Amino acid sequence: MNDTPAFRPALEHALNHSLAHLESLGHSPVAAGASLHMLRDRLVKPLNSEGMPAEQVIDELVNDTAGGIMGSAGGRFFGWVIGGSLPAALAADWMTSAWDQNAASYACGPAVAVIEEACGAWLKDLLGLPDHASFALTSGCQMAHVTALAAARNALLARRGWQVERDGLFGAPKIRILSSDQFHGSITRATRLLGMGTAAVTGLPANQAGQLDAAILEQALKNSPDTPTIVLLQAGDLNIGAYDCFADLIPLAHRYNAWVHVDGAFGLWANVSARYQHLLAGVEHADSWATDGHKWLNVPYDSGFAFVAHPEAHRNAMSYEASYISHNDQVREQKDWNPDWSRRGRGVATYAALRQLGRQGVVALIDGCCDAAHSLVTGIAALPGTELVWEPQINQGLVRFLDPRPEAAESDHDRWTDAVTSAVLASGEALFSNTTWRGKRCMRVSVCNWQTNAQDVARAVAAVARVLRERTL
Ligand SMILES: *Cc1c(COP(=O)(O)O)cnc(C)c1O
Repeated sequence: MNDTPAFRPALEHALNHSLAHLESLGHSPVAAGASLHMLRDRLVKPLNSEGMPAEQVIDELVNDTAGGIMGSAGGRFFGWVIGGSLPAALAADWMTSAWDQNAASYACGPAVAVIEEACGAWLKDLLGLPDHASFALTSGCQMAHVTALAAARNALLARRGWQVERDGLFGAPKIRILSSDQFHGSITRATRLLGMGTAAVTGLPANQAGQLDAAILEQALKNSPDTPTIVLLQAGDLNIGAYDCFADLIPLAHRYNAWVHVDGAFGLWANVSARYQHLLAGVEHADSWATDGHKWLNVPYDSGFAFVAHPEAHRNAMSYEASYISHNDQVREQKDWNPDWSRRGRGVATYAALRQLGRQGVVALIDGCCDAAHSLVTGIAALPGTELVWEPQINQGLVRFLDPRPEAAESDHDRWTDAVTSAVLASGEALFSNTTWRGKRCMRVSVCNWQTNAQDVARAVAAVARVLRERTL
């Protein structure tokens, strides 16, 4: 090893490879072409006993992963809900690694601690959440749920004289979660991690618009008025981007002393736009909210945000210090609010994304993705043999492809829909994922990348049209 650290060759190789990847996205297949076998063959080799130059590690990494990297950073990737990365956010993410601060505590990284304070204030302002809410920058919405629901658990049990952080859950009153049946799987996992158990969640039937019905919720609340209850509301569900009616449901839940948590993994972002704000009317009265940076804000992965309207409950649930120990209010210690201890300075990329976009840029990002989703879904639905299942209200829509044979049944349409989606994926022109929605297979269309433009939309529609023209059973 040299005396002087030799960073330059490896970082320069990484820069060149990164640019080559990002600049090729417009003309390379969106799907990964390499097989599992091929990737294992190349990557899972015996660990070398001698070391090698850092830049060679990077070159071999790029060669060995070839064909195994999805084009999810580009503008023709419409699968699941996956955002790209803004240039400033990606570059800031590199700086985060170069600085290598431990963002557990102000003492280990003063600037990144203050960057998180700025992010918290900007995000609350943009998302229309109360100023006094506490926040945490987590690894994703999954851990934002864990953080917020740990605060809920603290508050609900404290009201019944139970100190859960000290005494655990054995012997504690059982907590239940009431939600529409459209809740995301990350809630299920949060209940497991928090010791509430998956059976704690009751998924009540959603109405035609995909929303939780007030009368059904009230009935459930009334059935067991003394049970500590969390009401989970959706701000943009995963299939159709449906929003529960916050203005009605939050006051209703509060009348029964429930804690209201909002899953707004991507949908909370619609609050920045004058076009969509009405969907979120009243959301600011909830008790906690969870959302993502790595989806619609287009920050690299490892970026979620939790907000809690009751900072004491949040702090009691997460803080290293017991709540009775006096606290230095001069600085915000991240480990008092986050589930992790050592962690990356994950606020830096969010800070950079928000600075690059500015308020108007965030609005343009949200509106632009919604416009693109609408053109994409209506463009595909206009093709022969296609059914419009859900016209996007925001950036999510559903279409279904009908088996052209006259005697075709629903199960044939299901198979045909999956076959068309796979054929589009195989074409490399665009990528969509599938879902089962109200018993039917659908192709799910999601747009959350700042790069998706009218040309990408036209190309994707043309790719679907070609598959429909050329494919026969
Ligand atoms: C993606 C998603 C989540 C989970 O978020 P992660 O960032 O993947 O942990 C939760 N809820 C909804 C509605 C989502 O779309």
